Amino acid sequence: MTEAKAKTASDEIASGSERHQFQAEVSRLLNIVANSLYSEKEIFLRELISNASDACDKLRYAALTDEALASGDSEYRIDLKFDTEAKTLTIADNGIGLDQQDLIDNLGTIARSGTSAFMDAVSGGKKEGDADEGGDVNLIGQFGVGFYSAFMVADEVTVTTRKAGDDTGWCWRSDGLGEFTIEPADDVERGAVIVLHLKQDAEEYLDASRLRHIVKTYSDHISFPISLTEVGGGEDAPVGERLNQASAIWARPKSEVDEAAHKEFYHHVSHAVDEPWLTLHFRAEGMIEYAGLLYVPTARPFDIFNPDRKCSVKLYVKRVFITGDCEHLLPSWLRFVRGVIDSEDLPLNVSRELLQNSPVLARIKAGVTSRVLNALSEKAEKEADAYAGFWEAFGPVLKEGLYEDFEHRDKLMKLARFRSTAGDSLVGLEEYVARMKEGQEAIYYISGDDIDAIQRSPQLEGFKAKGIEVLLMTDPIDEFWVPTVGVFETTPFKSVTRGGADLDKIGGDDQGEKDDAPEEATEGLDALVALLKLELGEAVQDVRESARLTDSAVCLVAGENDLDMNLQRLLKQQGQLDAVQPRVLELNPKHALIASLAARASESGAVDALKDAAHLLLDQARIVEGEPVTDPAAYARRMSDAMASAFGTKGD
Ligand code: ADP
Repeated sequence: MTEAKAKTASDEIASGSERHQFQAEVSRLLNIVANSLYSEKEIFLRELISNASDACDKLRYAALTDEALASGDSEYRIDLKFDTEAKTLTIADNGIGLDQQDLIDNLGTIARSGTSAFMDAVSGGKKEGDADEGGDVNLIGQFGVGFYSAFMVADEVTVTTRKAGDDTGWCWRSDGLGEFTIEPADDVERGAVIVLHLKQDAEEYLDASRLRHIVKTYSDHISFPISLTEVGGGEDAPVGERLNQASAIWARPKSEVDEAAHKEFYHHVSHAVDEPWLTLHFRAEGMIEYAGLLYVPTARPFDIFNPDRKCSVKLYVKRVFITGDCEHLLPSWLRFVRGVIDSEDLPLNVSRELLQNSPVLARIKAGVTSRVLNALSEKAEKEADAYAGFWEAFGPVLKEGLYEDFEHRDKLMKLARFRSTAGDSLVGLEEYVARMKEGQEAIYYISGDDIDAIQRSPQLEGFKAKGIEVLLMTDPIDEFWVPTVGVFETTPFKSVTRGGADLDKIGGDDQGEKDDAPEEATEGLDALVALLKLELGEAVQDVRESARLTDSAVCLVAGENDLDMNLQRLLKQQGQLDAVQPRVLELNPKHALIASLAARASESGAVDALKDAAHLLLDQARIVEGEPVTDPAAYARRMSDAMASAFGTKGD
């Protein structure tokens, strides 16, 4: 392949060369990259080889339907050449190549999410132009900044390229200082040739053994042959020396792939920065044959809840890359799984439409899904602590399956873990049921968006006093799957914010007060209840004595047949519910305030005297619940009056 010759500024215009500014973000990135003292700059080669491999994959796929695109050259390969005289290192591939627009779009802006994540991490809230961006450059190695990492080692980069199917070639050129030029180039072979003019302090990459070592370390899993040639080298210099095995890593025997290789391959397929938490390397044989190499990441990708986020397991057919985002390989609640599935049964020229309705793919999906679930169950059983970490990261995603995937619900229920009032460690439903109290017939839960707030909720008081465990649910999806699922095996779920909590029926053998001796009825309580109902009218659904409160005076609960309170709030926020249903106000007869109000309630003139107290009780319960007070001005006035009278300044 030929390299376009450098041109002077004056003949630039005449020859059709165009100058372009990098997107501002790219300029900033390049500035960081070029000035980084990052010691492991060698990862630039990993990034460029990875791009070359993707380009070969893309063309091999496109050529399945349009053979002419490969134009007789379908031996995809990646060639490295170095020239100690010219001080250049070249990475060439015969993949899909780039046209003029691709060059502008892909090598002038930040397209990949990993690079944006790197920028966010490095700037850490700092604004453009701030000094000291060098602190976190170590992250470059983790995030990988793709093509731009070439500027860590080069002060000039040219990309000479011709896109498959096009006649015109192009030369992209930049010194990484804010601008790049693009001009037409003659006699360019299909693919891309990237020439790095190495900086003085990067001349170590003009060395065969160094390059061999880097390729072995980072790129051994690449399934296209990578070769090395020294231009103008001596007798022993490598000429087309093969550097990698060039066999698909997932097709190799399990025992031949070590952890380091898995890690590199995982980074390659996922563009992620963490390490695989779980690796599944398997071959399914029988009616349908396929190989799989799947990884569960350690960290949750930041865009996992983005509605556009698709499954990113790659589909290959007989080692040929087909697509990187096949939605039909795994259910969406496993969309964090990365890796490759390689089918022996699908036709090579499989189209997207065919993929949608393919019975082969449906069977692969079923097989792979149960493999992943089985592996997770095994982890949950044998390595509970590690599994808890996984659950923290991906539990909210798996829970979507509880809601929408009837077929896998039972398995998922056993995999689910929860925070609970019993302590800091996560609890599973089997474990919860096993330690239920005598007489307890339901799995109690409370939901809300803030774990600390729900833990302080007055509705939990009676449960805590009786030592009854309550699950604390803070994921929005909880509001949907719990009512849909209803029971775990035969035990129903019951929200503590709803209906009578039947607390008095559950064995009280615990730390709290002994509830078994019949309590003396608080005098006047019935009168107080009647009075509050009258005064509060439609603002409440009911007023009643509470079995669940021990410390607080009042709390709000939903009626027995109403939606859970948090679900109502959520639906209202989303505009799906006009107003939350009126609540039930529960009174704690053991509380000093309620006792004295009750005593006053049967005296004459009580209706007028307790008017304000009635509203204050309801507002107080609302505040504790995190709900707005309906009339803040009236609340403030009543509160001031009450305080004034308590402190004796209001004569009455
Ligand atoms: P990423 O590879 O993660 O998308 P890069 O910054 O490394 O990010 O590359 C940006 C884009 O440039 C790629 O997505 C690809 O479209 C294009 N590209 C890079 N290298 C090549 C190449 N050797 N052949 C064809 N296209 C390439």
